[in-house]
Amino acid sequence: MTATIIDGQAVAASIRARIKDEAAALKARTGVVPGLATVLVGDNPASQTYVRMKGRACEEVGMRSVGHKLPATATQAEVEGLVRQLNADPGIHGILVQLPLPGHLNEEAVLNAIGIEKDVDGFHPVNIGRLAMKGREPLFVPCTPAGCIALMDHVGVKIEGARAVVLGRSNIVGLPVSLLLIGRNATVTVCHSRTRDLPSVTREADILVAAIGKAQMVRGDWVKPGAVVIDVGVNRVDDPTTKSGYRLVGDVAFDEAKEVAGAITPVPGGVGPMTIAMLLQNTLRGAKHKAG
Ligand code: NDP
Repeated sequence: MTATIIDGQAVAASIRARIKDEAAALKARTGVVPGLATVLVGDNPASQTYVRMKGRACEEVGMRSVGHKLPATATQAEVEGLVRQLNADPGIHGILVQLPLPGHLNEEAVLNAIGIEKDVDGFHPVNIGRLAMKGREPLFVPCTPAGCIALMDHVGVKIEGARAVVLGRSNIVGLPVSLLLIGRNATVTVCHSRTRDLPSVTREADILVAAIGKAQMVRGDWVKPGAVVIDVGVNRVDDPTTKSGYRLVGDVAFDEAKEVAGAITPVPGGVGPMTIAMLLQNTLRGAKHKAG
């Protein structure tokens, strides 16, 4: 069997086109232009690239993007002070603090300082708490996990009743994607670095989400025939044939897994583009919420 390749670029492009139309309609109706503020602390090159991409994506759909850059030496009080200033800014509907923060800063305290109605990353404990509780709705769902679910919905995966296995339990990906799958009535197993005999668990999965950050660890024979494989991992591996000397691969050995799976996301071009599309969607949601 050769799997259907789930084209995250194409799905994300169609979501961005819809967001652009909705943002224009909101502006026409209320005068409100959705605004995203990004906060970058320090000079981490990957973080700089991510923030630049997010700013550009905003502008492409007619949203306002305001970038704030603080030096790597910024104090806790300075970062939290900036967040509070953005909380009070009526033109800003979403605040994104790019992670990771430099080691001397208390990340949890910074994320807690973001006003819950502007928490477009969905990392505020109240938003995560609501996601975990039956019958509660978070204002914002974390972007990468929301992107995983949106991809599955786009290709018509039946989540309800499926056996789902999530590899990874981070606050950013593994945990919230597990909560979303539970909310959609899947039967979910969450695996981590201390799970014993991982392949025997993954082979049970109708839906397998890999978010561990280990290049191509999930082999073809870990995958149940016909399963849906969502590969969140982004890992650099050496490749002297490329100009940069490296290439990006996922947590799944794609060439092997695609021969077994029913559907699979590639890396790059799978989950990655969805993360930014979901950020735009959350920012639009914040603006609509504000506009009533
Ligand atoms: P973290 O490092 O925060 O979490 C990794 C998780 O994987 C942990 O729960 C860890 O277990 C588990 N793990 C690590 N090694 C193993 C192993 N050998 N076997 C089983 N479980 C293991 O990573 P993130 O969640 O932040 O990111 C995961 C991947 O997703 C990364 O490659 C990252 O680059 C990518 N990513 C991609 C995004 C996108 O937009 N496409 C966005 C965000 C992340 P334990 O808890 O026991 O330590």
